[in-house]
Amino acid sequence: MTYHFKCTLCGEEYDPHTTRYVCPKHGDDGILDTIYDYKRIAAATSPQKISNSRDYSIWRYADLLPLNDAAESAPPLAVGWTPLYHAKTLGADLGLSHLYLKDDGRNPTASFKDRASAVVVAKARELGVELITTASTGNAGAALAGLAAAAQMPTIIFVPETAPQAKIAQLLIFGSRVMLVKGNYDQAFDLCLAASKEFGWYCRNTAYNPYTVEGKKTASFEICEQLALTPFPSPAKLERGARGEGWRAPDRIFVSVGDGNIISGLWKGLRDLAALGWIDKMPKLMGIQAEGSAACYNTWKAGTEKITPVNAVTVADSISADIPRDGVRAVRAVRETGGAYLTVTDDEILAAIPVLARRAAVFSEPAGAAAYAGLVKAVKQGLVKSDETIVCMITGNGLKDVKSAMQVAGEGIHIEPTLEALRKAMKT
Ligand SMILES: *Cc1c(COP(=O)(O)O)cnc(C)c1O
Repeated sequence: MTYHFKCTLCGEEYDPHTTRYVCPKHGDDGILDTIYDYKRIAAATSPQKISNSRDYSIWRYADLLPLNDAAESAPPLAVGWTPLYHAKTLGADLGLSHLYLKDDGRNPTASFKDRASAVVVAKARELGVELITTASTGNAGAALAGLAAAAQMPTIIFVPETAPQAKIAQLLIFGSRVMLVKGNYDQAFDLCLAASKEFGWYCRNTAYNPYTVEGKKTASFEICEQLALTPFPSPAKLERGARGEGWRAPDRIFVSVGDGNIISGLWKGLRDLAALGWIDKMPKLMGIQAEGSAACYNTWKAGTEKITPVNAVTVADSISADIPRDGVRAVRAVRETGGAYLTVTDDEILAAIPVLARRAAVFSEPAGAAAYAGLVKAVKQGLVKSDETIVCMITGNGLKDVKSAMQVAGEGIHIEPTLEALRKAMKT
């Protein structure tokens, strides 16, 4: 696959063989986009060819990924092709007839981050690096630890020492060297960056490494491919697909935003598909932030591109970021698709967890539930129409953060092991 990099700030173009991370002119802010030759991709593959693939993972999209030989370099762990549920009951609760949940908690390390780590580990193998490092609130690290274990590559991972226990357990179990940073995610990020420069480690840091967004874009490919078949392929859709005309884009996608790399990835995937002519409309991207970690929302609201750091505090640890590392692109993603940013409170985030579980049977960690809490708010504010096709990204599994779930789960009833005790308990 031939491609080159382009700075998101100045548009200067770079050769991936000589530039590894960011635009040299802009330092760590100079996040790079990956630019493809779409004519070559169109000649090599088609929606129909991909839809006939038996590879039910992100690697079905290898022709749209920045790897030389994905069949050779992809770590052997099944990432992606997560279910897209038509959530009829939950949708009806909100007066929406076409609400879909993309359950990315179904990835091997139980979060969306596996998409990015899979592509970064594959690239690391192609580059022949010896060690990979990353900073993380927990999920990106767990994903890197898992994918690196699949490829038998060593990792050093920096997380805030306050990260949820389950996420730290994942890092340790997969065999990473774990640095529990006495500080927040942003401090872990800066330390990891400094360490990778000092020791020459390959750095997966979100957005700083240009391949994270390229892995994350696969969720958009899946959404548009799966929507073309969901809930059941109608003859008309099959015929359309059979003629290779393309997939189906939703009207809106709701996703929670911390660093802004997932929303940037979703946008990149949609732009790839639009450039290829495989979708005929651009969905509106709806970025949801916690009220206590809303730097992108603030910038969007102010109508600028200037990201002002915040002191992030939220129960949704995965979207807690003082400085969103992909902030500029994340603001553009919403602005240029005609979407919106919304903020939700920690109470709204926690309240969304049992609703998702009880009305749609998806158990989400707080950051995933935040996207749904944002949808509830958008419906209340009249921002969405009842017949729109809406996808809500559930980005991480609820077992990642049992402590938060237990705050809103209710309580079990302790009883003696007798029918009498049970009868009594059932009356209360
Ligand atoms: C990382 C993460 C997010 C946010 O992604 P950003 O790229 O930081 O905006 C949302 N939900 C979960 C579960 C995550 O792990």
